[in-house]
Amino acid sequence: MKTFRLPRSDTFAAIETLARQRIVLLDGAMGTMIQRLGLDEDAYAGRSGGVACPHPTDLPQKGNNDLLSLTQPDAIEAIHFEFAMAGADIVETNTFSSTTIAQADYGLGAAVEDLNVAAVRAARRAVDRATAIDGRPRFVAGAVGPTNRTASLSPDVNDPGFRAVSFDDLRAAYGQQIAALIAGGADLILIETIFDTLNAKAAIFACFEAFAAHGRRLPVMISGTITDASGRTLSGQTPTAFWHSVRHARPFSIGLNCALGAAAMRPHMAEISGIAETLTCAYPNAGLPNAFGQYDEGPDETAAQIGDFAQAGLVNIVGGCCGTTPDHIRAMAEAVAGHAPRKVPGHD
Ligand SMILES: [Zn+2]
Repeated sequence: MKTFRLPRSDTFAAIETLARQRIVLLDGAMGTMIQRLGLDEDAYAGRSGGVACPHPTDLPQKGNNDLLSLTQPDAIEAIHFEFAMAGADIVETNTFSSTTIAQADYGLGAAVEDLNVAAVRAARRAVDRATAIDGRPRFVAGAVGPTNRTASLSPDVNDPGFRAVSFDDLRAAYGQQIAALIAGGADLILIETIFDTLNAKAAIFACFEAFAAHGRRLPVMISGTITDASGRTLSGQTPTAFWHSVRHARPFSIGLNCALGAAAMRPHMAEISGIAETLTCAYPNAGLPNAFGQYDEGPDETAAQIGDFAQAGLVNIVGGCCGTTPDHIRAMAEAVAGHAPRKVPGHD
């Protein structure tokens, strides 16, 4: 595939070297930290403090967390900085829903390029500040979410052939997002919370196209989510099948995030770890959500389980998803500090 003949991006080798030396830390949940700020509609839209949204719309914006990269950039930068100082080597941009497909609900499809560029810059400012303090290199991963539509399943039980979105729609939307993440200066691309492999394939395809246009390739991290207790993605794949459906992309890492928490994730991470000829990455939620949709696992509890993943040699990269805070990341960094990174099968 031509993509693999492209030269690597400037920071690719530095990230690879870091992952060879030790277990690499991702950050925790942006959404959880934003929730704590208790922002209202005016704050989201940038009407009270912050920066007024340059893409006016009449639709309510409260809950559109990605918009805050534009309207409350200092708050987003501050969250990234907290995670970076807690030990995150890689911070994820606030762009989980920064595609035309996901922003359509908010009437902000036209803002997508600005959202992605602003998000990368906020993350970059934060990691540069942290590195200036302690000298540790840090990297920015451009986060690409699954969108709220799926290409391989019908949302209508009475019409199983119906698709809310096509592969080409997704590929175009992801392509626009990924090009903007690269233009903003992202070091990696992280395709995350994959519940539908066809969506992920569209994102991977879009990465290849964007790298070809850019003339360089970035490390690509791929992270699925197991949505039921039998250990399958929403589109029905086992972890092994999931790996085989994306390994052609030669991802920098493969793994799991979100979903049912670390305890439920462990056997599936063990399965992936046993077969994947690349780095593995796990960033679970802080346990199962309670009746109010909140996550109860404290930093020590989540970190103990991540420490167990590390001791068992299952992981190269770890971090947190929903409900995890800078305290969770700090505790995880301590829990994995004494453990060597997983050995990739077939590598020395
Ligand atoms: Zn999550």
